[in-house]
Amino acid sequence: MLLAGTLTPPLSLPTKMPQPGGAAQSIITPTLNRAMAAYLGLAIGDALGASVEFMTPNEIRHQFGVHRELSGGGWLRLKTGQVTDDTTMALALGESILQNDGKVEALAAARAFDAWMRAKPVDIGNTVRRNLIAFRRSGHPEAAPSEHDAGNGAAMRVLPVALACLGQSEAETIAAVRAQAHVTHHNAISDAGCETLVFMVQDFIAGANDVEVLHRRAHALAKRFPAYAFRTRPRLNPSGYVVDTLQAVFQAFFDTESFEDCLVDVVNRGGDADTTGAIAGMLAGARYGLAGIPKRWLNALDPKIREGCLHQAAALIGSSRT
Ligand SMILES: [Mg+2]
Repeated sequence: MLLAGTLTPPLSLPTKMPQPGGAAQSIITPTLNRAMAAYLGLAIGDALGASVEFMTPNEIRHQFGVHRELSGGGWLRLKTGQVTDDTTMALALGESILQNDGKVEALAAARAFDAWMRAKPVDIGNTVRRNLIAFRRSGHPEAAPSEHDAGNGAAMRVLPVALACLGQSEAETIAAVRAQAHVTHHNAISDAGCETLVFMVQDFIAGANDVEVLHRRAHALAKRFPAYAFRTRPRLNPSGYVVDTLQAVFQAFFDTESFEDCLVDVVNRGGDADTTGAIAGMLAGARYGLAGIPKRWLNALDPKIREGCLHQAAALIGSSRT
């Protein structure tokens, strides 16, 4: 465990982010480095993809050539570096975990998501809205099981669970993943995707390599749920169905060799690009660490979000059993 107080210098400004061989590097453990990079990756991928959400690959090519800058805009008319619900729901969930002594609990998560919805977020998914309204009425934090609620809304916000559950057993981690997911998405396909993402992030934070993670997690998911098979045709223009989302993410992630190439690949597929960007960014951050994140993206990211991601990554690691 690392004391939060020792992290003050690298958290203040992007120019003071730890650099390879730099003075600040020594106080960032490899675990913390990858956790921070995963959270920043989530936000950067969200902001990058939001500019091209709901566009087709052809429309993106026509407008941008290759979309590779945090430029804002898109159908939500975002400012440069602004994020969407993917990142802000993750931060709301992370805060609820921290206020709950590092434990992931359904009721605390539901209350946090409800407060998040009341604050009028820039974007909100249909399944999230419907089931949070049901929670307001019933006070019961678990949505009814539904074969239709297999959107990517639970998967996109799952990162704080991966960090808070480091060092816990597989059964404890799965219970935590489902507690947060079922607030809005009570669906076996969604659960399997969420669990796979959490274990992939934890594997990379522990130093696993691509090949291990590919077989142990991604191919294993496709074995359990054949719909998830991703070594088929290229998944372009992915919808909000979590299977489409993870197929696009896995193709981009396992077929590239850097944080930047992974994110550029996935968002230029268009479709639900903020969420594919967010999930790919989370994985690529955990895989490549802080040194892999292009400085121009880090500097363009909304500073409040950047600070929030860094703070939460450190605090959630601190609250886990690492
Ligand atoms: Mg979004």
